[in-house]
Amino acid sequence: MIEIHNARKVYRQGDDEVVACQVGELTIVDREQVALIGRSGSGKSTLLNMIAGIVRPSSGSVRVAGRELSEMSESERDRFRGEHIGMVFQTFNLLQPFNAVENVLLGATFGRKAPGTRERALELLTTVGLGDRLHHRPGQLSVGQMQRVAICRALINQPALILADEPLGNQDPETGREVLDLLLRLAREEGRTVVMVTHDPASAALMERTVDLMDLQSEVAS
Ligand code: ADP
Ligand code: MG
Repeated sequence: MIEIHNARKVYRQGDDEVVACQVGELTIVDREQVALIGRSGSGKSTLLNMIAGIVRPSSGSVRVAGRELSEMSESERDRFRGEHIGMVFQTFNLLQPFNAVENVLLGATFGRKAPGTRERALELLTTVGLGDRLHHRPGQLSVGQMQRVAICRALINQPALILADEPLGNQDPETGREVLDLLLRLAREEGRTVVMVTHDPASAALMERTVDLMDLQSEVAS
């Protein structure tokens, strides 16, 4: 699913260069569930954004679902992301004026009106226990419930790969654990690959494998 070889992201700031992320070798196979750890500022979010095609690597190779992202234009990467990737952010990024069903449907970047899309949104929301909150807006939901909506939105397109950046945020550990269990169960049932950034060892322990970004940095050939 993911093959990364000597990838770096460098930002230029005046005369200085900031290495935001570097990865020597990383391979993640289909259906694997991987926790990504590393100290703050080590480049976890940047790596996730490179895998998502949001950030283009400055050098090296990032292959996702058989496509070389470093060779694709921004619009190609946007289309690629819509077709293959579901994202869950720490802040959820739910839109306030829209209710739960509408927020989930906003994730359906293409074929939003395709037959079955709304039914799938309702089914997902019901599966995560929000069958009686379909028409609540984000402000009318608890943090854990908003996070469930964000997970449904990430899954609506049936993405092969789910990327989550510290999705458990600051909520209480018990709720966070429940929601993570749910995400991993849904991903397993539907055969998705999951890469999740977390700083919570207990959450990482629920995943099949933990990758420490610090271990990947040292291998980069300069
Ligand atoms: P993490 O998610 O592990 O905390 P990030 O990937 O957000 O780390 O950032 C890694 C490093 O790259 C940080 O030092 C950060 O300041 C820097 N960085 C991230 N994005 C940018 C940017 N757009 N411009 C300049 N520096 C950046
Ligand atoms: Mg981060």
